[in-house]
Amino acid sequence: MRQYILKETKEVGKIFCNKCGREIAVHQGRPEEDVLEVEKRWGYFSDKDNRVDSFDLCEKCYDEFVATFSIPIGE
Ligand SMILES: [Zn+2]
Repeated sequence: MRQYILKETKEVGKIFCNKCGREIAVHQGRPEEDVLEVEKRWGYFSDKDNRVDSFDLCEKCYDEFVATFSIPIGE
């Protein structure tokens, strides 16, 4: 005899770069190219008390974004 349990799984269906809007190909829940995934919960000492912001950037938009920094990123 077998007893089964119902498992609910969640996987990524689609990813869009928030900056350029391009869709990142996803295969079986995994992106087929690397992206920057950001999730930030703003704390009490911000103007966004406890708000969660999230976004994704493709590699090209990431490169453009970090190029605007006054201090270059480290490696
Ligand atoms: Zn992009």
